[in-house]
This record gives sequence, structure tokens and C-alpha cells, in this order.
Amino acid sequence: MILFDAMPEEPAAGHLGRIRQINHVPRNSVESKLRSALHLAGHGVAADCAMLDMLALAAGKASEEYARCHSLIAASRVAAKEGECHEYGSASEPRNCSMAFPKDGAFLCRQCAADDLLRHGFSWFRRSHQLIGVDWCPVHQEVLMKVNHADPFSKSPAAWVSSERLEQPEACAVTLAQAPSFVRRYVEIAVAQLARSRPISSLQLRGVLGSEATQAGLRIGQHGSKPPLSDKVRQIAPAGWLQRHIPGLVDKPPMTSFGRLDVLAMSRVARGDSYLVALAALFPTSSTAIAAYEACGSTPSSDSDAVPRRRGFRHRGCSTRKERFWDGGVWSTYLDAEGSHALMSVKLGVTKDRLVAKLNSLGLPDLQLARTKALWSAINDFGAGMSLEDAACKHGHATVDLETLLRQGAGRMISAVAHLRSPGEPA
Ligand SMILES: [Zn+2]
Repeated sequence: MILFDAMPEEPAAGHLGRIRQINHVPRNSVESKLRSALHLAGHGVAADCAMLDMLALAAGKASEEYARCHSLIAASRVAAKEGECHEYGSASEPRNCSMAFPKDGAFLCRQCAADDLLRHGFSWFRRSHQLIGVDWCPVHQEVLMKVNHADPFSKSPAAWVSSERLEQPEACAVTLAQAPSFVRRYVEIAVAQLARSRPISSLQLRGVLGSEATQAGLRIGQHGSKPPLSDKVRQIAPAGWLQRHIPGLVDKPPMTSFGRLDVLAMSRVARGDSYLVALAALFPTSSTAIAAYEACGSTPSSDSDAVPRRRGFRHRGCSTRKERFWDGGVWSTYLDAEGSHALMSVKLGVTKDRLVAKLNSLGLPDLQLARTKALWSAINDFGAGMSLEDAACKHGHATVDLETLLRQGAGRMISAVAHLRSPGEPA
């Protein structure tokens, strides 16, 4: 059997199809033939070796690189649980979706097939053409054709074009450029997703989406007086596109949550295209959505750094990004969230319990818990020089409330004094 690498942007299933075509191997025996060929080539292939890993070996690539370049895993695993954001294709990643095509059938662009033939003498399938919600070739903008055959990888795209066994599915526009702006944003975001090497934390992504949804007047939970994200998607996406790619959403009663799409109300990790739809619906441009997604990896996640450090100084010039955030950037986030620990937890995508401990240690108490006009006025007067008792008395507040809040606010100073006192010093 002749083994060879996949072509640029060729999906693994298409690569396997070309291996079958060139070697004249039927579909039902390709796996065993490929396994034998890899053995002969000196590769140790375990009995349970996944097809993706065997194709990576055939291509002469590491599984991670092959998955990043030739699978659609990135589109199906956009986000993952904290601590499970492994590189696509790594041994820790699930293999069940590595060869799957998310749309029903295989799709091709006639212009891509013609260009391939002209430049290379043969043609191959493209990953971006198989993405849910992508009805046009991102390069040529024309509507993608569906191969009307049970085994679409038994022939090349150019062979299907000349055999005329193609169906043209209904698309909401003749070209991608003519599609509504939401759909164009979605296509750009989904195609960009294919270049990623690992999922991001679902908690962090939900924080970013939740912040945008709140600003857009949408609700975050299952129930509430504000409309859910799914209502916004139904409002801005063309009905035909929704019926093709998110069946059932068009018929959903207003104000009710739609399981697949309302990712903000979910405690579990959602399917990849649901996050991509949310990004396209909540951000004004694809570039702002992609930037917000990428920024998810640059904010600290919930981990040991949320626990205040009591002893030990950092060396100068050795501060990490996370430490720099807690030393400075946290302040603007605190102000943006109006001192609300709950909102900060959503914005940063970190567990609230750990965040509260960290913020209190920094002297940043939850101002929303103490949000009364009288208490805030009392703090203001105390800051301007009034005594604790006088400030509390003037605004009709118990001294103890004011004192509690100020004690939390002095957290960093108290920590510093505790740190600087020598161990033998009397209490
Ligand atoms: Zn094309």
C-alpha cells in the first residue's frame, strides 16, 4: 500500500478516501490494510490504535499536528472543562469525533475542484466545506454542493463534479458576500476555529459570552424576565439557515430556553457550533469575537494562585502574566464589575469561592453585598477624614457594618503587616 501525506486543509476522511482510491482498496478492508502497511513501514500500531493516529503515521506527522491540520475536532470541541483543555489529537483527547463530519454528507466547491485539477492534476475535499452553518466556499464564495452518494470519499471532488452526482442545497444567499451579516460573521468565526490547537475553558468562554449577553439585555440563566440568547439568534439569523443548521429553533416559543443553543444557561460543556453561534450573535464583527475568544486564554483561570500567598517574595523581573494581573489588571475588572464578586467570577470565568478569597485578601470586598447609599456615603466620609463612629452615625448605619467592610478593604495592608512581622515578635 502506498502511504502519503494529506493535502492542505484536507479532512482525515478525505485523506483516507484518497489512500483507498490510489491503492484500489475497498472501504471495508482499508483499516486492516492500512494497519499492515504501517507495520511494514516499521510503525508499532496497537490493536486499538484510532484511525486518526494511523493516518497521522501515514502522513508522517504527530497526532496533534495531524488533528490540528486535518480533523474537524476544533469545531466540535471549541471549549472543554477546566483541566481538560488538552491539545487536539493528544492521547488525552477523545477520539470518537476525530473522523466525523458534522453535516449530513460530504460537501465540495466546484471552483476549488477545478483549481486543484489545474494546479495539481488531482483534487481533494476541504475541511471548511464540511462545517455546520457553512453553506459557501470561504475562498470562492459560491454555494457548496453535496455529494449524492453513500460513499462520498470513493471519488475525488473533480470526479464527482464531472459525474454530476451533486445536489445543490438551499442556501440563504447566492454568494457568501450576499449572506446576512450574522451568517458571514459565523462563517468567519467557524473557519478561524479550524486553526486552533486546543479547546479553551468552557467556564472562561461562558464568562466572556455572559458579559456580552448582559450588555445586550439578554438573560444568562434558564429563566428570567429578559430574553435568552436563542431569541436573539432567531431574530438575526435567516429562517432558512436556521432550519438547515439549528432545526427546531424557528418553532421555539419566545422567552423559552433552547437546549442546544442557550450555552449561558448550561452547566455542561456545549457542542462546538453552539459556542460559535453565540460568538457570532453577541459580537458586532468576527474579528472582535475572535479576539474575545483568544483573550479567554490570557486571563487567569481558577487555580492555586487564587489562594493568598503568606510568605516568600517574588524575584524582580520574574512575575508571571497571572501575577501581573493580580497586581494591577484586577483593579479595572473590579471597577467594571462595580465591585461585584459574582459578576467578576462570570467575566473572568473562575470559580467564585476561590475568587472571593483572593479578592478579599487583596482588600477588594464585594461592594454589591454592601450596596446601600448610606453605607457608601459613610465610607466616603470616613475616607475624607471623619471618624468611624461619626461617619456611621451621620448616615444612620451601624458602626459594625462599616468596620467590617473597612477591615476587608484593608486586607492587603493587614497581609503585609502579618508578613513583615518577625516570627518571634510578641502579638
Ligand atoms: Zn472553493
